[in-house]
Amino acid sequence: MGSQQILPGSTLGVLGGGQLGRMFCVAARTMGYRVLVLDPDPLCGAGHIADLHIKADYSDQQALEKMAAECDAITLEFENIPSASVRFIAGKTRVFPGAEALEIAQNRDLEKQFAKNAGLQPVPYFALRQASDLQQAAENVGFPAILKSNTLGYDGKGQFVVNDINELNDAYQQVGKVDCVLEKKINIRCEISAIIARNASAERATFPVSENQHRNGVLHMSIVPARVSAALAGQAVESAAILAEALSYVGILAVEFFVSDDGELYFNEMAPRPHNSGHYTKDACVTSQFEQQVRMMCGLTPGDTRLLSPVVMVNMLGDLWLPDWSGIFSQSNIKLHLYGKTEARPGRKMGHFNVLAEDVESALTVAEDVFNKLSGP
Ligand code: ADP
Ligand code: MG
Repeated sequence: MGSQQILPGSTLGVLGGGQLGRMFCVAARTMGYRVLVLDPDPLCGAGHIADLHIKADYSDQQALEKMAAECDAITLEFENIPSASVRFIAGKTRVFPGAEALEIAQNRDLEKQFAKNAGLQPVPYFALRQASDLQQAAENVGFPAILKSNTLGYDGKGQFVVNDINELNDAYQQVGKVDCVLEKKINIRCEISAIIARNASAERATFPVSENQHRNGVLHMSIVPARVSAALAGQAVESAAILAEALSYVGILAVEFFVSDDGELYFNEMAPRPHNSGHYTKDACVTSQFEQQVRMMCGLTPGDTRLLSPVVMVNMLGDLWLPDWSGIFSQSNIKLHLYGKTEARPGRKMGHFNVLAEDVESALTVAEDVFNKLSGP
């Protein structure tokens, strides 16, 4: 074992205390690390699990200072942490992923350019900087198209499907005339994601590719193994590896792709962190994406990513609260994960469940049946 490794008993920090931060804390504590979370929300889900919860803004220098002083390494749970905070910490302790990768993943235009330069194929798009670009963008991309704000979008937020130049104009006003990309709306056969782990010694491991179904721009289900050809799955894994290398990335990188009707693989976006589509790994892989996140930031060898069982993950949103739990607990092959959120709001991610079965079709049948019962008549 190298001297660079951070071992149990050390303190790990996470910027962001939502469900991803919470599941990171569970994994880190299980492995014997002390964990510290920074999140302004006193009720955040990770705060219940962490050894210490610093309740402060992500750009509060005093809080970042304290965190850096206590932690042997720090990671983040979502990409909207100010990169200036990551740079500030980087001078004081180890922080993964680094500010450069974070800044690329924060900005749709930059991440598409980066992917393109690395040899991947993004959906045809045009970067919009001012109102006078709209006409050219429309001619370039055609309709239907999707207008997406460059920054701060997630779960379909900051996105507008537009069918003509008038709708594009309206959407641009509505999004507040911020920098955007106008993207061709393609006919999607399916969406897949590849989650890759890389440590500072450039050791890598990729989780099995997941097939992702969305509703209203939010992930609804992940199906693993994905029902795509081995060649396509292989291409997705290879693309993720190319990006991780090009970024000299340390941590977990999730890469989303579209498979079009005509079988083309398009790069959609990447997330510099564990991903909702990787929650299946918690029950169905030798190593979960959160344990892997711990391993990467600590300089440990990547854990085995082997799939132990076909699995379907279903997201549980606040729309259906409180669900009828008997539908879940009457099944012997469903694993429930709740995020400790006290207030349910429509669209808010409250938890997920993983259905494990002998084959993906049986898992899917149970998942759909249980989900429909939870959502009521
Ligand atoms: P977010 O950051 O909100 O996840 P995405 O760019 O991944 O944003 O878009 C959310 C969802 O909207 C996608 O998973 C996909 O279902 C749909 N979508 C996004 N872009 C396109 C596109 N160019 N063509 C067709 N559907 C799209
Ligand atoms: Mg997405």
